[in-house]
Amino acid sequence: MVEPDPESLRRQLLAWYRARKRDLPFRRTRDPYAILVAEVILQRTRVRAGLPYYERFLAAFPTIRDLAAAPEGAVLRAWEGLGFYGRARNLHRAAKAVVDRFGGGLPEDYESLRALPGIGEYTAGAVGSIAFGLRVPAVDGNAARVLSRVFRIEEDVSRGPVRKRLRDVAADLVPATGPGEWNQALMELGATVCVPRRPRCPECPVSGECLAFATGTQDQLPHAAAKGAVKVVPVAFAVVRQGDAVLLVHRQRGLHAGMYGLPGGDVADGESLPRAVRRHLAGLGLTALAVRRIAPVHHTFSHLRWDGAAFACRVRGRPQGAEWVPPDRLREIPLVPLHRRLLSVL
Ligand code: SF4
Repeated sequence: MVEPDPESLRRQLLAWYRARKRDLPFRRTRDPYAILVAEVILQRTRVRAGLPYYERFLAAFPTIRDLAAAPEGAVLRAWEGLGFYGRARNLHRAAKAVVDRFGGGLPEDYESLRALPGIGEYTAGAVGSIAFGLRVPAVDGNAARVLSRVFRIEEDVSRGPVRKRLRDVAADLVPATGPGEWNQALMELGATVCVPRRPRCPECPVSGECLAFATGTQDQLPHAAAKGAVKVVPVAFAVVRQGDAVLLVHRQRGLHAGMYGLPGGDVADGESLPRAVRRHLAGLGLTALAVRRIAPVHHTFSHLRWDGAAFACRVRGRPQGAEWVPPDRLREIPLVPLHRRLLSVL
């Protein structure tokens, strides 16, 4: 079987991209900071879901200096609902590092970009190639899928050595001129034509170069080891009010570090949900006088699922490590989205 011809692949894919690419706001900017924001937001988030956040985030923090100077709570509030909050905290840290170490301008070489907090190979490659014209690959899930099919890579793409091979294949393809456009074209093909299920090969610009299409194996690629089952975590949360104010905990660790949330959380083995609520309240120095179930809680994150309930509680005592938050402040602070929804419907 004839290997794909890089020249022909590039020519056909770029011609298609120039004619068919989606008109997206982050493709209209030359501002490296805006490109960085888009790349971080769009990791693990679909374009349509991420776009409103991109626009709101840039409106709130128009420059990297604005972001670096903002309190973490404001950054997390702008990110609230996007999930994977570590991305927001890292972007904030990266902005501070850029201001401290580079005077507010993103560094223009791959190694310095890669050394910024939370900037991995993909983000450094995307920003480096799109914003600064560096000849480096940017292999996200979409690009990896296209490459595994075009080059018929049959090993498990979730394994490190195979990811490295994909990156090497991608690096060989990046042209000296317009590397950012090329990287975006590859990702665009994966996002719109070479989609995970039932790729649209008849309308694909590179079907003539694609080994998977030639052998009819496009539906079987890429191979990836099955993910483990989502872990179910039983949870119980307390809704405690004092007048208009609601009791919230500023979380320091875990999935929602830096955000506010209702008191409560995990349920121990063999523990009932009401008992877990009482235990969590006791940890805040409060005695629960009444605990009444008011709403179920079911929420799936990427790797785990919360199953449990929320309880309206009356308490005695002065809270330690939690605070009464009035409605006007509630609008300003970053709050676990599920808890904001619960409070808004209760
Ligand atoms: Fe993907 Fe099909 Fe195009 Fe190959 S021919 S790159 S499998 S859409």
